[in-house]
Amino acid sequence: MGSGNDIRAFRERVFADLGLYQEVSGLFDGGWGAGAQGRRLAVHSPIDGAQLADVAVASEEDFGRLIENAWASFREWSRIPAPKRGEVVRAIGERLRRHMDSLGLLIALEVGKTPIEGRGEVQEMIDICDFAVGLSRQLYGKTMASERLNHRLYEHWHPHGVVGVITAFNFPCAVWSWNAFIAAVIGNVVVWKPSPEAALTAIAVTNIMNEVLDDHGLPPIFFLAVDESGEIGKCMSRELRLPLISFTGSVSTGKEVAAAVNARLGRTILELGGNNAAIVTPDADPEIALRGVAFGALATAGQRCTTTRRLILHESLSDSFIPRLVSAFGAVKVGNPLEPDVLVGPLINRGAVDSYCAAIGQAQAAGGTVLAGNAVETIPGLEAGHYVAPTILDGVPPDAEVVRTETFAPILYVLRYRALDEAFAIHNCVPQGLSSAIFSNNLREVEAFLSVVGSDCGLANVNTGTAGAEIGGAFGGEKDSGGGRESGSDAWKAYARRQTVTINFGPDLPLSQGVTFDVSQRQ
Ligand code: NAD
Repeated sequence: MGSGNDIRAFRERVFADLGLYQEVSGLFDGGWGAGAQGRRLAVHSPIDGAQLADVAVASEEDFGRLIENAWASFREWSRIPAPKRGEVVRAIGERLRRHMDSLGLLIALEVGKTPIEGRGEVQEMIDICDFAVGLSRQLYGKTMASERLNHRLYEHWHPHGVVGVITAFNFPCAVWSWNAFIAAVIGNVVVWKPSPEAALTAIAVTNIMNEVLDDHGLPPIFFLAVDESGEIGKCMSRELRLPLISFTGSVSTGKEVAAAVNARLGRTILELGGNNAAIVTPDADPEIALRGVAFGALATAGQRCTTTRRLILHESLSDSFIPRLVSAFGAVKVGNPLEPDVLVGPLINRGAVDSYCAAIGQAQAAGGTVLAGNAVETIPGLEAGHYVAPTILDGVPPDAEVVRTETFAPILYVLRYRALDEAFAIHNCVPQGLSSAIFSNNLREVEAFLSVVGSDCGLANVNTGTAGAEIGGAFGGEKDSGGGRESGSDAWKAYARRQTVTINFGPDLPLSQGVTFDVSQRQ
């Protein structure tokens, strides 16, 4: 596997199974449309640069109609009892199981993940379906003791209506599903604006979803608007008829979205960039630490929000840990992710390769030494792909701007510490606060890391790496990582509005806080 012919054969098989064509629509407003302005987006594979398809994109005019149709669907969908909505999501999970291999391969073709990672992403969608089915019977509100006689006080949760989901390229469908399936069982309808780099995956997924709804005689509830570079995302941020925007992407775009949505007093869930570190202490199991750091830094070619970007290593471990890490980086095969022994595929585009080169240059200028990598790779037969060698840099100051910035590429900075407090200070000195890890079998070190003086991140891992999270927990980060929570635990509450209800079932009108207001005596 490696030639253009093999990749084309893959593409044809995948397209046939998923009902995709060379020319497809990226606008689903209740039916697939051509887009009022006739604009098109060419989608390329980062594996070999070949064009995969030509996609019709949505304009602002299309978007207005789409929102109207979505609200019409909401009026029907939100009246269905939640457990019945759960049954539909269960059927969606079953349909996804059927298409798991093709969708996994499409993700590989479109964003350059390995097919195993692509299938893992589809598995995550299936898992969140299962979670949402259970949730559909557990949308609990509390009942509180009223301070007034003959009064009942309780809360219940209503859907917001039509909610907007804007996603990044690197998890082209799993992150959408964390939002969409939870939102759907609550009774919301979802409008999705995917990354233009991952338009085909979004089209294939939307197709599958609405086929299932159609089979159940239900209106479409998963709408789609592909754009070329964020125009529809801007419309969504301004749109009063989208009470909630869930945004996944870079910190800089997230700040723009937050400002626009806040200006109209809408709600946001922000899942932004990370700058994740793993602390390795002298009490770490060296094998677990090595695998955890290597996987965290290399998986998805360093293009995960949870990628390990900083290794905070006790200075006594330099001679034992670093050479093994360097050889692990050197041994990893970079290339066509469709080949079974390749672990690191391409970066998403030429711009990402440029960012990789620029970051290494800045790190060297700040005093860093390259221990591994620092090369743009050319893979025979795939010359137009975007490949780089996973890189380790040593000696860059922990507070250097380049270390404080998320570069979406496989670059790992080695930072050293002597005392644990120093490790925590280094750990927390970056603006982002998404995922973190400590490798240690020392209870005191572990508990300190998990205490208020330890990790300041939304996700804290012990003896497992920063990358890869289970759907059962609430996922999200602090500081510049946005503060949003998605997926499991009680993250569902963000997709619902809480209504506090007071019912007086007695013959009098007692007021709260003992206030008296006797209208009859004042007459
Ligand atoms: P990006 O910020 O470039 O784009 C994200 C999405 O926003 C895309 O759909 C894009 O088209 C859209 N967009 C662009 N401009 C917009 C605007 N002005 N208004 C509204 N939408 C706009 O991010 P990316 O390069 O696709 O993804 C990589 C980034 O996403 C990294 O920073 C990564 O850490 C982050 N990410 C975070 C999480 C998380 O859960 N915290 C998960 C995945 C990715």
